[in-house]
Amino acid sequence: MNSPESQLHYPFGDALPAPGSTREVAPGVRWIRMALPFALDHINLWLLRDELDGRQGWTVVDCCIDRPESRAQWQQVFDGELEGLPVLRVVVTHMHPDHIGLAHWLCERWSTPQHECRLWISATDYYAARVGSRSTTGFGGESAARFFAAHGLTEPSAVEKIRARGSYYSSMVPDVPAGFRRLQDGLALRIGGRAWHCIAGHGHAPEHIALHCPDLGVLISGDMLLPRISTNVSVHDAEPESNPLADFLRSIERFTPLGDDTLVLPSHGKPFTGAATRVAQLQAHHRDRLAEVLEACAQAPRTAAEMLPVLFKRTLDLHQTTFAMGEAVAHLHALWFAGKLTRERGADGCWRFVAKVM
Ligand SMILES: [Zn+2]
Repeated sequence: MNSPESQLHYPFGDALPAPGSTREVAPGVRWIRMALPFALDHINLWLLRDELDGRQGWTVVDCCIDRPESRAQWQQVFDGELEGLPVLRVVVTHMHPDHIGLAHWLCERWSTPQHECRLWISATDYYAARVGSRSTTGFGGESAARFFAAHGLTEPSAVEKIRARGSYYSSMVPDVPAGFRRLQDGLALRIGGRAWHCIAGHGHAPEHIALHCPDLGVLISGDMLLPRISTNVSVHDAEPESNPLADFLRSIERFTPLGDDTLVLPSHGKPFTGAATRVAQLQAHHRDRLAEVLEACAQAPRTAAEMLPVLFKRTLDLHQTTFAMGEAVAHLHALWFAGKLTRERGADGCWRFVAKVM
């Protein structure tokens, strides 16, 4: 059988933009690729030729995390790729650090007394990022450690490390601009004389915004549609009884009508065509994972931690384990919300999920 990835088409092959430079992928749309210090080692950002309030310049889509290396790479882009024009606004698809980290710096760098370089983002993600960037009330830390422990991750050294990571988000997103312009589902932005439609998506971030330009046949998919890896879909400690997998699967159906000709610009991996095919692959992927989880829970009550070897057939470092735990809970919750599993809390404080006897 063909690998799922081979069913997609990569119009630019393996060619990547060099660090600090850009590559045009559609008229007025340029691709920037920046390094990330994680297992997922890069992010794609986009520069769109634009005009705003009568000024010529660029709209930036997504920013990278805040660290000296990313600022230096942006400086190279400013020096060599902007044709002497300013950045007019910063569009952010969602609140994750690799997308919003440098928004505060870009907006400040390009604002003038006459023209505010504004952040454009969904309201939900804006406020989530504001909360996360304040380290005292940030994500992770004690409440994350308690959440993971309740789902069976009780190994003391792992719990200790998670507890110590209370300022993890704010270390990559030290600040967020004080104001923003709101993006919402159905809104059309005028960028470079063309309409770009906002498509909201859920399950990965609170209110992720993808941008579709029918004129160009281009979708900036953010993290909602990635070519090689499946998007992280996690339950988090702040919303411990959520059902993000159902939200995610419902959200990606919105991309099926774009067919297999639309050029998809994802935040990770290479630009590709085959959106409808990719949606079908992801639906099948999660259907298979859900079947495996249900099968395991039919044999005995299981915690999310006990699902890790079932769902992830490789060794995971701590960073990956926290992602994997969130995903395992997401799969258990999808089945729980669908009425196929029930959950019970043991004397040890751990949630265990068991298949309903039909
Ligand atoms: Zn993300």
